[in-house]
Amino acid sequence: MDLGINGKWALVCAASKGLGKGCARALVQEGVNVVITARGDDALQTTAAELRVLAPGVQVVAVAGDITTAAGRAAALVACPQVDILVNNAGGPPPGDFRDWDRDAWIKALDANMLTPIELIKSTVDGMALRGFGRVVNITSAAVKAPIDILGLSNGARSGLTGFVGGLARQPRLASRNVTLNSLLPGPFDTDRLRGTAAGAAAKTGKSIEALLDERRLLNPTRRFGTADEFGAWCAFLCSMHAGYVTGQNLLLDGGAYAGTF
Ligand code: NAP
Repeated sequence: MDLGINGKWALVCAASKGLGKGCARALVQEGVNVVITARGDDALQTTAAELRVLAPGVQVVAVAGDITTAAGRAAALVACPQVDILVNNAGGPPPGDFRDWDRDAWIKALDANMLTPIELIKSTVDGMALRGFGRVVNITSAAVKAPIDILGLSNGARSGLTGFVGGLARQPRLASRNVTLNSLLPGPFDTDRLRGTAAGAAAKTGKSIEALLDERRLLNPTRRFGTADEFGAWCAFLCSMHAGYVTGQNLLLDGGAYAGTF
């Protein structure tokens, strides 16, 4: 299927690794030029080089910086000739007990997982509407649908983003101009983040990381974790010309882990 987005420009945030990288990989394979960001420049440059090999002829611009800061967002935006596609992503907040979180912990989580995507949406959607094409995909979490007790910061911040996007996506001045805003809700995907969480749990329980990962795989109906490439393919489809009639939606990608019918 031709996704019809060859030659568009995408800003893919937090994309040197994991799910953001999966989205960038899928988009460049569709001929989309990308600006990718991450804080660490080494991994970012390695990913940029990999993308250039994967899709010769496509422009890949790497901008090192913290997307949760105003300076990081400004640098990413200025590097993108026009943002036709925006993939919002950043690291997730740490797990813990809400009794230990002070106001600063909450503000940090809100900055990363709610206010940063909103700022980037604000900077880009009206331009998309003027041009008659725009796609925003937010990487959130399955925790938006089924909250996880120790991920209270994530549950709260991402639910705030989800509510905001649900309202904005339905504004006719965007929807009628072929600008869509949707979110992808990952369950367990095999990334550094997932392995880092397992390493933390292993240190506490005395089990090996691999044993813990095996236990987690068994909890999923598919008996495995998702891959970044599978995630990226959904992102690319939501960004395609075929997906213009889908907006304000939250798509759960979790191998069937969520047990509800709806
Ligand atoms: P990952 O493998 O750890 O990759 C995170 C990427 O984001 C890296 O490229 C990292 O590079 C970059 N990054 C992190 N914070 C950043 C910042 N402030 N500014 C710019 N770049 C930043 O994580 P992932 O598994 O892909 O997770 C992506 C998102 O999905 C996270 O919010 C995570 O909580 C959420 N999620 C993941 C899963 C899962 O199973 N993997 C499940 C549910 C939700 P630098 O560190 O160099 O900046």
